[in-house]
Order: sequence, then structure tokens, then C-alpha cells
Amino acid sequence: MSNNPASAILIRGADVLTMTAGEKVTPRRADILIEAGRITGLGEDLTAPDGTQTVEAAGRVVMPGLVNAHLHSSEMFLRGRYQRMPLESWLCWSYPFLGSGPPDLEMLRLRSLLVAIESLRSGVTMISDDFFDPPTHDLERLGTVFRAYDEAGIRANVSSGLMNLPYLDTLAHAREVFPVEIQAQLDFPLTGAAEYAEYCSEVFRTLHGSGDGRLRYMLAPSGPQRCSIELMQACRDLARQWQVPYHTHVLETRSQAVTAEILFGGSIVRFMSEHGLLGPEVLMAHAVWVNDNDIEMMGEAGVSVSWNALANLKLGSGLAPVRRLLDAGVNLSLGTDGASSNDTMRLFDVIRVAGLVSTATCQGPDFGLTSDEVLKAATTGGAKAAMLEKTTGSLEVGKQADLVILDPSRGTAFTPLSDVASQLVYCENGSAVESVMIDGRFVIRDGCFTDLDEDAILAEIRDRMPAFLRQHRQVEAQNAFLVPLFNEVIRRCDAVPLPFERRLPT
Ligand SMILES: [Zn+2]
Repeated sequence: MSNNPASAILIRGADVLTMTAGEKVTPRRADILIEAGRITGLGEDLTAPDGTQTVEAAGRVVMPGLVNAHLHSSEMFLRGRYQRMPLESWLCWSYPFLGSGPPDLEMLRLRSLLVAIESLRSGVTMISDDFFDPPTHDLERLGTVFRAYDEAGIRANVSSGLMNLPYLDTLAHAREVFPVEIQAQLDFPLTGAAEYAEYCSEVFRTLHGSGDGRLRYMLAPSGPQRCSIELMQACRDLARQWQVPYHTHVLETRSQAVTAEILFGGSIVRFMSEHGLLGPEVLMAHAVWVNDNDIEMMGEAGVSVSWNALANLKLGSGLAPVRRLLDAGVNLSLGTDGASSNDTMRLFDVIRVAGLVSTATCQGPDFGLTSDEVLKAATTGGAKAAMLEKTTGSLEVGKQADLVILDPSRGTAFTPLSDVASQLVYCENGSAVESVMIDGRFVIRDGCFTDLDEDAILAEIRDRMPAFLRQHRQVEAQNAFLVPLFNEVIRRCDAVPLPFERRLPT
């Protein structure tokens, strides 16, 4: 998207939730002046320079755009396909080991646009897309994703995720369960640390910072148990050099916690600490099965966690100890995860579930998260996790104008109105989103995309889906024999006692 933001816009008379640190999340009547994409004034009765476009917003709620801290666009065409599967078995079909050809460039573009459209429609202005595109890392393919997000006008951190250890070595009991001849089929040649670092450097030189700076590259080694230490450290060095997130999956499932006992003496987080892999640039996806010492180390290091509560529920992974993570000083953000484990990009769904299930993650007087805490996780927490806390996440002078205008009379979530913050968490689902602005440009205005031809894009996706799904069903059939093997691995892991549990007791 190359056209420049409007020179000046005044949003007048709105009920504004600024999400400013230390302030209660409550609306106050204010005008917002936006010049050259940036908020330059916020207060009552602002005067605007000549030529300013005025947007009358009386009766509207204006809040910062939501930040989705963890998703995989790779899963976007697989929504609605899988249920009642734990992660390790679900991976066989969502990220097939055998017979899967990467989608062509137009499918990549459409898939990314679908992520962006659904995100924007539900008030998300910033996404962290852990793009996974095995077997290669390819500038043209990654560039197609960047260009699609540019076309949509969204803000995004995008990775080119990878693992570089044989998968069966990254999961306890896998080698003893899988017959040797099948093991041979799953042991692929893997990318070396130096080769990957060279590719990333090329991405930083070419794609990073495109879309007028909205689109950034981030490092995303899949998980400490799935990557060599050389790769993890090379990614850390690049993340620190370029000041971008170091995004990695940590202890999503019970089987991973059992694996951690064997590979890391019980603590992946301590392993990360001992190898210099903890710091404020670290964004951990999930962190469900972290122990007390892990939580303490994570808080001291100032890491961020993307809590993907809905995906964790769907895959039966368990509930992250979010109250304790927050209390320890961890920066909490929220993510949808991919559309094969959720199955939408609507962060409002995650917000509601996060508020509800947080009560089940703690006991006694340590109750769940407040509405304010949940909304901050979805805005300022996400911005910090994206290392963009000076750019987005709250409405403050000096920040880019990434905001959502909600019309409380759209839908029924705010009728009757009791408390805006609480109803954003427990009632709203995105239906009240009227307009969405990013970098001072309306991407959605009065319910319609300003540039994208949404209907044409969705129609093209629907046209292409029968052929895609025909091919994907063949891939599923080809990989189906692996599912009972992974189920057996999970059964053996489940039989191993752990010092704590993160699943609800039966
Ligand atoms: Zn993930």
C-alpha cells in the first residue's frame, strides 16, 4: 500500500480508551488529532489545522487496534477440519510430514489476505505471523506474504519459521514407538544455522521495513527442543541486532513437559537462561507447562508470553498460569494461533475466553484476570511483545494512529451499557467494529474496506478451495498412518508423572 496517509484527521467527540500504562481502562470524552499517520493531539476541544478532515465520533468508542501476538497464516485454509486431536497428532495433518507440496504464490497471497481481512474486520491492526513454509526459505514466497499484508494495510511481524533437529528426537518416547522404517521416512535433511542466518540477513536487507515500515521480519526458531543450540543463538543474535522479537514455542503440551524432563533436566526455560536465550526480545508462544522457577526466570528476564487460550483449549494442551506469570513481571499478550487450532483470527474470541478461563488457572484469593488486564494484554501487551511499544498498542501523542472505532449500537453487545471495558471483554465479538485505522489511514471505513476488494478476494478463495482440499485430503490420507503412532507417544508421555499439572483435574 503505497499511498500516503491523509495529511490530517480529527476524530471528534469520541469516548476514548487510551490504554495508557497505569491508568484504569475507562472511556473519556476526547478528540484525537492525527497528522502524517501519527497522533499529535489527544484531549478535549482540540483545534485542528486548516484542511483537516473531521470525523464526527460522538457516541463512538475509540480504542487502540488489537494486537494478535501469535498466529500461523500457513493454517488459514485448514479451518474447521480438525477437532478432538492433541497437538502432536494434529501436526500430522496441519503440517503434514509426507506428500505436502507448498501452495503456489497466488494461494500464498490469498491465504495471507484472508488472515488480514479477518483480523482487520475484528479490530486487529497488528499481527505476529509465524509463517511456516517448509521445506524451503524463499525470498519470493516470503515476499508474497509481505506484499499481501502491504496490500491489506495491516501492521505485521512475519517470520520464516523453522526447526532443524530430527522431529522424532524432539519428543519423548517417539523413537521407541515408531518402527525403524517409518523413522527413516521422517528424518529429512535440515537447514543449518549458518545457512539460515544468511537467509535471514537477506530478508532484513530486502523485506524488513517494507510497507512504510509497518512490515517487519522476526526470528522464529520453532522451539528450543526442535532447534540446535547454534541455530537458537544465531537467531538471538540477529533479533538483538535488528531489535525484533525472538519468537519461539515453549512448553505448549504435557508431552513437551515430559520431553523437557529428559532433554533439559526438567526445565527448557533454565536451559534457555543458561545459553543466553532469555531477554526482553523473547516472545514465548504458549508457556503452559512452565514451573515455578521458570516463571521467576521469565519475569526477571522480562520476556513476553503469547497466551493462546483458545488454541490451548481446542488441542487440550492445558491452561497457562497467567496470574502468576503476570505477577512475576512477565509481559502478557494474546494470540489466536493458527486457523487450524482455533479456528478464527477474531482476537475478541480469545479476549473473552482469556477472561473466563483465567479464573481456572489459579486458586484461593488469587483470582483470574481483570477486564483491564485482559484488554491490556490484547493491546499494549501485544505491542510490547512485538517490540513496538513506542509505535502502537495505546493512544498517546507520538504514537502511530492504529485505532478502532466501535459503534456500540451495532449489534447488541453494549445494550444495555454498564461498563465498556467489561463488555469489550465479555460481550463484544467484533460486530461493533465500524472503522479501522492504521498509520493514520482508514483501512476499513464505516464497515467497508477502503482499498481491498474483499468480496472478490473471498470469491477467488472459494473458487480455488475445492481443488486445494481435494489435494489436501490425499495428503491427509497419506499421513493418516502416523496418527495412531503419535497417539501412542502421547499415551506414554501421559503415563509419566510430573510435579505439577496444567490440565483441569477430572
Ligand atoms: Zn504456534
